[in-house]
Amino acid sequence: MKHATWMTLAMLGLLAGGCGAQKVLLGTESSYVFVASDALALPGESVDIAAQLRAGDFLQGAAGHPVRFFRGGEFYKVAETDTAGVATVAFTPPRPGNYPFRAEVVATGLEDDPPSPATFYVVCRKADEPIVIVDLDKTIVASGFHTVLIGSPAPMANSQDVLKRLGRKHTIVYLTHRPDLFGIKSRQFLDDRGYPFGPLLLSSVSGFMKGSGAFKSGELAELRKRFKNVRIGIGDKLSDAQAYHENGLRAFLIIEMPHADEPEPYEELANDLDALDKQIEVVARWRQIEKALFDGESYPRADMQTQLYTLADDARRKLRDVEDD
Ligand SMILES: [Mg+2]
Repeated sequence: MKHATWMTLAMLGLLAGGCGAQKVLLGTESSYVFVASDALALPGESVDIAAQLRAGDFLQGAAGHPVRFFRGGEFYKVAETDTAGVATVAFTPPRPGNYPFRAEVVATGLEDDPPSPATFYVVCRKADEPIVIVDLDKTIVASGFHTVLIGSPAPMANSQDVLKRLGRKHTIVYLTHRPDLFGIKSRQFLDDRGYPFGPLLLSSVSGFMKGSGAFKSGELAELRKRFKNVRIGIGDKLSDAQAYHENGLRAFLIIEMPHADEPEPYEELANDLDALDKQIEVVARWRQIEKALFDGESYPRADMQTQLYTLADDARRKLRDVEDD
């Protein structure tokens, strides 16, 4: 099943499944879902930081609840949730750095135990900070989205090493089409698996509905208005790679090599790659991305297509040999 389909099913399961489903799928402990997302800011720039409280079987926004924001353990500001359940306060980071925040719903007026506090960062970087954009599912997470929901997914081989190496001179921005409801599980994965620190930017429900390509193009365009050195984009969807490329990034598409006896899966993938601009590089492994970025190698999509057509021919020859026997 395609990962967007899994995600859509998960969303439906959550909306209809109530508290038990939330605990399993989202990693929450209460009947409320309370999430806050990281933000990326320039020095001296005021950014809105927001936390959202949802409740009930359909995860409706819960209005009129005070949310207290703490910055690095110190009380910062309080704001009340609006009709969408969102409490927003402004913050202006004075200089580059990682500013940890915590948001807590005030327990008074809640029908059930309050949700766990939400932790997040305002990540402040100068406008010329070198930035790498990386996707999550099937890019650093080896499997599709469904394993994220029900278990502990495995990382893609070597993705941590390569991102750590890149992280020495770049800020890694984790940009995913996963809805922000999955922020807790996504952050846990990055922390538990030793990925370098970086802001985690998820889609809202409306961003999710736009589709991955449109969502990422929109986010990238916004980011590039403020940050002038967004250099590299890595993802597994053609639409992601195209979005990176169209926004002036060095774009890498990471594909899953078919393992088939028949030629068709190889040919279909090779044909699909025609949709990509020629400059987009296509790889099957993180080590290739490392060689491209640190050893001056390149992986034009035409080379991958040649490789795939060769594999298709090999498969066809083997099938013919079997028939001839
Ligand atoms: Mg993906």
